[in-house]
Amino acid sequence: MIPVNEPLLDGNEKIYLNECIESGWISSDGAFVERFERAMANYVGRKHAIAVANGSAALDIAAAALQLGPDDEVIIPTHTIISCASAIVRTGARLRLVDSSPDTWNMDVTQIEAAITSRTRAIMPVHTFGLPVDMAPVLALAKKHGIAVIEDAAQAIGQTYDGRQCGSFGDISCFSFYANKHIATGEGGMILCDDDALAARARSLRNLCFKPERRFVHEELGWNYRMSSLQAAVGLAQFEKLDAHIARKRQLGQRYETLLRGVRGLELAPVACPYADNIYWVFGLILDDSLPIDADQARSMLADAGVSARPFFWPMHEQPVFLKQGLFDGEHYPVAERMSRRGLYLPSGLALTEAQQDKAVAAVRNMLATFL
Ligand SMILES: *Cc1c(COP(=O)(O)O)cnc(C)c1O
Repeated sequence: MIPVNEPLLDGNEKIYLNECIESGWISSDGAFVERFERAMANYVGRKHAIAVANGSAALDIAAAALQLGPDDEVIIPTHTIISCASAIVRTGARLRLVDSSPDTWNMDVTQIEAAITSRTRAIMPVHTFGLPVDMAPVLALAKKHGIAVIEDAAQAIGQTYDGRQCGSFGDISCFSFYANKHIATGEGGMILCDDDALAARARSLRNLCFKPERRFVHEELGWNYRMSSLQAAVGLAQFEKLDAHIARKRQLGQRYETLLRGVRGLELAPVACPYADNIYWVFGLILDDSLPIDADQARSMLADAGVSARPFFWPMHEQPVFLKQGLFDGEHYPVAERMSRRGLYLPSGLALTEAQQDKAVAAVRNMLATFL
């Protein structure tokens, strides 16, 4: 079976991990966490970087650091991971959703303004699959209405928008270092920002809101969302390979694109948009409406041929957990609904070989041949 993702750990990972083990620094203390934070802050061009346990934790902290609460609303795309929504819902703030754009598969930024009300406190653009969200209109709206931007750049580490790094745009930006991200620490995440007070709040929230003066007396509730030295050691080694990882992702994506271009029955991931070329975090495709199968059926046919594929996200407005809470009643977002039913992505890990890629492409072609 060709896995949907296999990470590539072929740099200094072992050397740095050995340093942790030999020095005994395995908790979040020790040099690696700060070294990794500094490396990322410099690369993205931010003043502060705060390493955390995972990308979902980064979003939780971002929402709490902005002090969102029940009087507030936050605009997010409906087609995203649950972490974006849960971070907001847990603060008591209300979610306002927007649909996806069929051209970029990202949030449709032309729908944001209509979702802004007097209660809107933040917009959360989420760069998905390999193309960034069109940030200029998001930033312009945020400025015009005095709204914060929480940028979810988990899938876009090393991608740029008009030449500027993803993760450099949000008042607060979040990365994930889950095993399938461009930098993989197994589990891990990071918060980036420029504002000193916001950074101080985020650092405190990461560490149970311990106070330096009286450690076990707490004014606020935080989390233990610290990153360990072991994760940061792997992260630093992965960071040293980031440019190579990105080049490899682009190469894999372009190769899929070449091999599948023109095949009937498929809409392939957009190659580029006016402000960026696809970085192909994963290689996605959408099944034509003319095919009598949906993404789930396609995935099981591919699995029978030894190829694992993953579905796209299931929209937030169709999540049972939110419908049970009475949220999003009767709301519809047709582009996201179609993407979630007809979209899937092919094996896209950094360790994927050309032979595996050829096998995945053959499996897709054979599957389509059954119907066309
Ligand atoms: C991976 C991911 C996250 C969550 O990161 P975890 O480290 O898995 O918690 C958040 N947002 C997006 C867009 C992601 O792809």
